[in-house]
Amino acid sequence: MIFETISTSGHEEVVFCHNKDAGLKAIIAIHNTVLGPALGGTRMWNYANEAEALNDVLRLSRGMTYKAAVSGLNLGGGKAVIWGDPNKDKSEALFRAFGRFVNSLGGRYITAEDVGIDVNDMEYVFRETEYVTGVHQVHGGSGDPSPFTAYGTLQGLMAALNVKFGNEDVGKYSYAVQGVGHVGMEFVKLLRERGAKVFVTDINQEAVRRAVEEFGCEAVGLDEIYDVDVDVYSPTALGGTLNETTIDRIKAKVICGAANNQLATDQIGDELERRGVLYAPDYAVNAGGLMNVSLEIDGYNRERAMRMMRTIYYNLMRIFEISKRDGIPTYKAADRMAEERINTIGKLKLPHMGNHAPRFLGRRAN
Ligand code: NAD
Repeated sequence: MIFETISTSGHEEVVFCHNKDAGLKAIIAIHNTVLGPALGGTRMWNYANEAEALNDVLRLSRGMTYKAAVSGLNLGGGKAVIWGDPNKDKSEALFRAFGRFVNSLGGRYITAEDVGIDVNDMEYVFRETEYVTGVHQVHGGSGDPSPFTAYGTLQGLMAALNVKFGNEDVGKYSYAVQGVGHVGMEFVKLLRERGAKVFVTDINQEAVRRAVEEFGCEAVGLDEIYDVDVDVYSPTALGGTLNETTIDRIKAKVICGAANNQLATDQIGDELERRGVLYAPDYAVNAGGLMNVSLEIDGYNRERAMRMMRTIYYNLMRIFEISKRDGIPTYKAADRMAEERINTIGKLKLPHMGNHAPRFLGRRAN
């Protein structure tokens, strides 16, 4: 059953990690390493059962392959899940035991933070392995990726505006931003700095207040965000907000935001295309965080990271071109671009280079 699942999803390796004394139950899934080591975060979640944990790690690791490939990174896709309650089950031993499993893969998998894991947990992982990114700045790491994700989203937005409206003047347009958390708040700041009209909503009223008072946004209700008459809808909170009930309400001609898994189903992506709404594929738009941590591999540099965000603009342009070239919706074009890159680069034979483990420079655990 497991082999059948893995072979259909195309995974290279799935590692079950167990340490009784540390209470560790984890799964590391390496989906594809054709372009480079598999980089992807570790999620800690209280799954209902093993099958749920396995499905989650398989789905998420495959997503990382596509995100890295479409972003032009020399990275493959992987992800890990720790089965446990992040509020109760964390300990030094748990994360160090996990770090040893990561280390045993010799750099084929590089981890980072994801839901349920923070930078302090990663400190313990970092004591056991160097194959970890998103470590604290005091160790030469890259710190919080959110400002980079927001800036990358702005680059993707400019590409979308160019294709849809023929100019990239961000300030000329109006926006409905759903979610002003770590990424969303930075994003609305960038929009307002450019003079744009911005509507925001969030379940966190304090965040809404800040967006209004500090950045001059206009607040709307949680459900109202779909009805505001704007040029761009930006999902920056949750996944699945583009669905059968919302797309009839959204008037925006461009959809571009940082949330993961925005399309509830592929059919919604087809329908947006049919209606002439330009959807900027989420995993290409929100790759700024991944780009940022990837720079830890050969020595983190903030200026280089900011410059790298600009490539998101060109990646989006290429996706829109493929969509036009092949007459397919943009979400499919993003997948095709990723697959084409894996295929062509995978066929390059560079026998003198071989496969070597990544070297991390400029960081130390203690
Ligand atoms: P966050 O938790 O800081 O912010 C999410 C915000 O959305 C919170 O303020 C929350 O209150 C709000 N929210 C939740 N449910 C809502 C609802 N129903 N309506 C309106 N607001 C709601 O998370 P974040 O780091 O800002 O990430 C935002 C999205 O971007 C997520 O989907 C995340 O997966 C994705 N993303 C983030 C990064 C990053 O660098 N942080 C990178 C890639 C993708």
